[in-house]
Amino acid sequence: MSVARKSVRAIFPAPLRQSMPKVFLKTYGCQMNERDSEQVARDLVSRGYEMTGDEKDADVVLLNTCSVRDLAEQKALGKMGMLGRLRANRPEMVFGFLGCMAQSRGSELTRDIGHVDLVVGTQKFHRVADYVDQIWQRKVLLRDRLMDDERFSIVDVDEEAGSQETIREHVLEERQATAFVSIMQGCNMHCTFCIVPSTRGSERSRRIEEIVREVEGLVTMGVREVTLLGQIVNLFGRHEFPKSAEGLSPFVQLLEAVHAVPGLRRLRFTSPHPIGFRDDLVDAFRRLPKLMPHVHLPMQSGSDRILKAMHRAYTVDKYFALTEKLRAARSDIALTTDIIVGFPGETDDDYAATRELVRRVGFDNAFIFKYSQRRDTPAAEMGDQLPERVKEERNQDLLAVVNELAKAKGEALVGQRVEILCEGLSKTNPDRLSGRSPGNKIVIFEGGERHIGEVFDVQIERSTGFSLYGNPAIF
Ligand code: SAM
Repeated sequence: MSVARKSVRAIFPAPLRQSMPKVFLKTYGCQMNERDSEQVARDLVSRGYEMTGDEKDADVVLLNTCSVRDLAEQKALGKMGMLGRLRANRPEMVFGFLGCMAQSRGSELTRDIGHVDLVVGTQKFHRVADYVDQIWQRKVLLRDRLMDDERFSIVDVDEEAGSQETIREHVLEERQATAFVSIMQGCNMHCTFCIVPSTRGSERSRRIEEIVREVEGLVTMGVREVTLLGQIVNLFGRHEFPKSAEGLSPFVQLLEAVHAVPGLRRLRFTSPHPIGFRDDLVDAFRRLPKLMPHVHLPMQSGSDRILKAMHRAYTVDKYFALTEKLRAARSDIALTTDIIVGFPGETDDDYAATRELVRRVGFDNAFIFKYSQRRDTPAAEMGDQLPERVKEERNQDLLAVVNELAKAKGEALVGQRVEILCEGLSKTNPDRLSGRSPGNKIVIFEGGERHIGEVFDVQIERSTGFSLYGNPAIF
């Protein structure tokens, strides 16, 4: 960690609480980032800070960033640039970058963007509240004494042993039915396109007892469903814990332990890798009734040549065989995926093979990404980078295929009764409620307070392809 100038701890030994600032915290990227932000919010709230959704009302602005694609980085940089204008009338405002881009760019961010005071990497989220305290105290208390040209900033992007154990507390909204639980950090896969191993470090897993305790606590607070999160979630514990006597992987042992938590109704996980997705995990979908029938299984490409260049150590045949095994374990299983189009050297034939595999698997939905060159990744240095136009064409073409598949999957549920967990008001229409089917499809319906947080059947009346609409069957 580097702290510019003198540490404020030396100046103010104890936190001061004259007027507690309001914090605007915006998250970019994946569910793991969402979860990290929840921990940061919880730490700030427990010190008396107030969270606000209105950036103009904020004293502290924190952007928790994503580096997976350049677009995500540009969005966060653009937002920080715009927000900097707020500082004109309120020089005491604190501005910080957290997470993946903070990790990869470090002090470059305080150097290049004049108003950024704080940069905190992916193994230091638990230090954010301390740092905000320090900067805020210094800015407010020394307001009149600070020279205009005196910059005080904190950059902490160090590694920290045991940081995976620090993302474990929650601030729940009223009647929150579903929660994310971070079970590990880092990734050892080294896919040639991906920046994550360098922003998140190597794989480190939490202890099973700790995770179970966290889930028990959530259930006591009313949560009915948890989603276990990891970059490669199925590789949980492979460095730390042995297989069980019956040959179950540490991840399947964890699933069993969480499944046994009384009062928990539903269990999910994301994202697994096809490598290490063994029969014990496929079989868990047969054996564990709370484990919801949905797998988000990143495929990336339908061409063996491109998979090899991506350093994804499976073939199209192996990937397809895994989806068949999952369908044999649970015929109602929903499959979704991530696909990259326009990887360096991807030919028309390679792309056609991807399109073909998408149809053959018959995904319920997919995230399609145009390949984005990431710094310090092997693919960024490969020859034959494709023009943006080709990436865009393939992206649009594949989106049309995926939308058609999603529509057909939704329509197949019309007329059926589907069990849902009601999560609360619909985000698009607050007069309606929203829940999720076992296969993770959004279901919108008219109902009342009594439905929130409950599991019950909904009769599906229609589908738009992305959402299902229905009526509660009896409740
Ligand atoms: N850990 C998961 C895995 O690899 O199986 C996925 C995590 S990553 C945050 C989410 C998705 O972003 C990846 O599955 C991939 O499709 C996409 N992605 C990662 N790097 C990318 C890049 N350089 N350009 C475009 N998409 C990318």
